[in-house]
Amino acid sequence: MDTVDKATRSRIMASVGQRNTGVELMLRSALHHMGVRYRLHVRSLPGSPDLVFPRYRAAVFVHGCYWHAHGCHRSTVPRSNHGFWSDKFVANKLRDAKKEAALLDAGWRVMTVWECALRGKTARQPEEVAAAVRKWLRSPASRSRPANAPAPSIAGLEWAAS
Ligand SMILES: [Zn+2]
Repeated sequence: MDTVDKATRSRIMASVGQRNTGVELMLRSALHHMGVRYRLHVRSLPGSPDLVFPRYRAAVFVHGCYWHAHGCHRSTVPRSNHGFWSDKFVANKLRDAKKEAALLDAGWRVMTVWECALRGKTARQPEEVAAAVRKWLRSPASRSRPANAPAPSIAGLEWAAS
């Protein structure tokens, strides 16, 4: 279902998949204010994660809901060329899953923060999201996650549901 007009769609398409997106900067800034230090876009790691916390051997991806096909209110498949976009989004999701698996295999912990946690009708304050990330980083339980358990994520949907 495509709910935006053509101009908006092309603006979205131009902004997706980029580094240093607005939501990533919001999260980075909030973490920085809390004194949580990180490295950016570490290319030596699989998928060059957006934020890397070497001390915690943890990596965080900040995913745009549209490009990474989150399935929330911020991700819709364009009505025109529907098949093309569906395939593309499936490929993106698959690529994300592979990156995540490669990091986990290398002994890293992985979390995904979705755009909708920080932007749109389900958005929370960046400080709240950053606090949740920090809690995850420090949580001893999250270090012994069973291999088959899904990696944690923060999304607007979950915020809204809780
Ligand atoms: Zn989302």
